Amino acid sequence: MKVLSSAEILTLDRTHLWHPYSSLDPEAPLYPVASAEGCEIVLTDGRLLVDGMASWWSAIHGYNRPELNQAVTQQLAKMAHVMFGGLTHEPAVRLAETLVNIAPPGLHRVFFADSGSVSVEVAIKMALQYQLSRGKRSKTRILSVRKAYHGDTLGAMSLCDPETGMHHLFQSLLPQQIFVAAPACTFHQPWEESCLEDLKSALREHQHELAALMLEPIVQGAGGMRFYHPEYLRAARELCNEFDVLLIIDEIATGFGRTGRLFACEHAGISPDILCLGKALTGGYMTLAATLCTEKVARGICDGEAGVFMHGPTFMANPLACSVALASTQLLLHSPWQERIAAIEQQLCTELLPLRDSPVVADVRVLGGIGVVELRQPVDMKVVVPKLVDQGVWLRPFGRLLYTMPPYVIGSDQLRQITAAMARICTA
Ligand code: PMP
Repeated sequence: MKVLSSAEILTLDRTHLWHPYSSLDPEAPLYPVASAEGCEIVLTDGRLLVDGMASWWSAIHGYNRPELNQAVTQQLAKMAHVMFGGLTHEPAVRLAETLVNIAPPGLHRVFFADSGSVSVEVAIKMALQYQLSRGKRSKTRILSVRKAYHGDTLGAMSLCDPETGMHHLFQSLLPQQIFVAAPACTFHQPWEESCLEDLKSALREHQHELAALMLEPIVQGAGGMRFYHPEYLRAARELCNEFDVLLIIDEIATGFGRTGRLFACEHAGISPDILCLGKALTGGYMTLAATLCTEKVARGICDGEAGVFMHGPTFMANPLACSVALASTQLLLHSPWQERIAAIEQQLCTELLPLRDSPVVADVRVLGGIGVVELRQPVDMKVVVPKLVDQGVWLRPFGRLLYTMPPYVIGSDQLRQITAAMARICTA
């Protein structure tokens, strides 16, 4: 097949494709990629972009890693896929065992799903089936917090912030969940007990109809890049126990070291009843997610009237994805990831915090490998993205947020290139 030119790729793309959260605007910035290596994306016109996004939190080891390539090709030589109904394989069992060993304690049962959003759907269904099987037929709703983001499928969307999640567009289809205020105490501020009031009163009032509370731990990601206090998470665990409500934790963005702990739950020393993992699970190589639950939840579901857990995607536990996830997790665990994240955090603080003095900046916050510059005005993507690309940097701002969460293996010079480009947006 003939290799397409950059212009041909763009024309075909503009003619046939959707992109994430896109319109059909032919002017929206769009860049054809030829390859990616280390922490750089190579465009088809030869330009190199330092990747400040790790492909939406996933490519933690950078691109084209020999260890991960090898895991895929070795598995490919055996089988790319085989159905998981009635069959099993080494990549799936080894990965499940590894996840159980490294996840917060008590989560012994693993369901492999296709994407983060699907793992959230699976978590919701687990919570509902568990409550049904205990005879708690009225416990069918989920409690969520404002500014949350859990994915784009209907169940997941019903738990996203009602405004940014556009609930009004999908109202007729979405399950009506219950929302409380976003956690108000930030990660670095002193803790105030009053932050819990809304959560407490919602749990007290709605306990009879709540199957679970759903939270992103410590970092509210795509709903606003906010970092909240670990004490909120610790107290949420206690309150869930007190009001007989399951706790579902969505570590899809935070899992595998991003916040400086392997899982963000560890900041609060808690374990959920159900845990969602995705994104960095495969080191950004393939789509795979996992929903873990306690043996109590699993047994409860299977002792209930259905007798089985009612979910089973075609590509469940895809062997290629499980193999690369296993290799990625081993690569992470055998790397000095804590030191790397600490170094990234230190550099982000040094180079981004001074931007607080800019009149166009509302706030700057840093946690682990995440650096966020919140502007006073929404980012004009058509202006800002090309400016960043001209400086050899790949970032994908949204709303008023200019932010980076680079691969963990980023060099300090590369990270400086990213923060300098961010600074230039704030001073231009
Ligand atoms: N939960 C969180 C916290 C996320 O950040 C995301 C993705 N941005 C999802 C769920 C959905 O994952 P996916 O895009 O793989 O469906």
